[in-house]
Amino acid sequence: MEGKGTKRIYLDNSATTRVDDEVMQAMLPYFTEAYGNASSLHHWGQRAKQAIEEARQQVALLLNASPPEITFLSGGTEADNLAIKGIAETHAERGHHIITSQIEHPAVLATCGQLEKAGWRVTYLPVYREGIVRIEDVRAALGDDTVLVTIMHANNELGTLQPIKEIGALVKERRQAGQRHLHLHTDAVQSVGKIPVDVKDLGVDLLSLSAHKLHGPKGVGLLYVRRGVRLHSQMHGGHHERDRRAGTESVPLIVGLGQAAELARLQLAERMNRIRELRDYLDAELLKRVPDVARNGDPSRRVPNVANFSFEHVEGEGLMISLDLKGIAVSTGSACSSGSTEPSHVLTAIGLPRDAGHGSLRFSLSKETTKEEIDYVLEVLPPLVEKLRRMSPLAKQKQQSGSGKQAPETVSASS
Ligand code: PLP
Repeated sequence: MEGKGTKRIYLDNSATTRVDDEVMQAMLPYFTEAYGNASSLHHWGQRAKQAIEEARQQVALLLNASPPEITFLSGGTEADNLAIKGIAETHAERGHHIITSQIEHPAVLATCGQLEKAGWRVTYLPVYREGIVRIEDVRAALGDDTVLVTIMHANNELGTLQPIKEIGALVKERRQAGQRHLHLHTDAVQSVGKIPVDVKDLGVDLLSLSAHKLHGPKGVGLLYVRRGVRLHSQMHGGHHERDRRAGTESVPLIVGLGQAAELARLQLAERMNRIRELRDYLDAELLKRVPDVARNGDPSRRVPNVANFSFEHVEGEGLMISLDLKGIAVSTGSACSSGSTEPSHVLTAIGLPRDAGHGSLRFSLSKETTKEEIDYVLEVLPPLVEKLRRMSPLAKQKQQSGSGKQAPETVSASS
């Protein structure tokens, strides 16, 4: 909480997180004192290079990878682009088929869309009501010409966890049977720092990570590329990052990512338990205190920091803005940023009726969320929902047509 007078509560940590004070402190010298170019051979350059290599060790330790398997780049979007286009181009002679899911981040979906235009075939797997891909669907979609399976680890709207380990075992089986060009990529932007993520245990060949989702700075991330995996570079220029990603490294941001990874590793268990306890409290109390609310996504297979609800007879944008006026930041399940009020592709993919998709909100917590903040949300939210329902044309329409569930009492009082 902060601000002049207004209590401000930030529950939009899936969008981005606050940079940790220790991360900030670690970065500062690399802006103002140790500002060398890591490619320079003099003292300044070598100090910058050493800082990058230390960060590489820190993130490798968090992911159970080895440092040469880490390529630093500008964030999750670039990591997804490099993984997908890099594998597709490298193995174009072996096949033109990619498998993904209907609920991927646009960084994956739009990249696959581009490849489709260039002649690749892409299978978009369904995720059913629970918001999770089924292993039998992956198995059925695999063909001899499949070069890549790219499925996210945790979904950014629902928090649902995908069966990456099982898919990893399946991919390995196919590879051992001779399909050597088959690879598995996972976008782990929403899971790293929330739950243990071990590249070897998951059996992935490539993994995307973004610093700003784990209390690091924006504009930096990495792609893990398993040793031995060949990948066409997507950025051409100098010989940076072992020729995988040209461009002068952003030393301060990489140092920040390293420090954020180090803190996430050391504090993971404690963060996870605390956040899960608060999220479960929000979850249970909200369902108790607000009528006609449904939880979206499988409640037992999700990251500990996300809760997504549909509020019947309520416009998500209206509720989000009303909460913002009370100092509470959450996000809606509609693509309102693009000027559209259509439910997101994720909510559509889990089969939510249009109205329920319209009335969806995502609450995403962080290690900085407190019980007092959740209590404030639980105090403010029920009367806001009630007020919006009283004004809702959706509720009135439903009541007049007499279809579906009985509209809440508050609606009849106003109509
Ligand atoms: N992938 C997922 C699942 C995300 O949630 C995000 C960010 O919202 C991204 C990729 C993109 O990451 P970045 O903002 O670092 O480009």
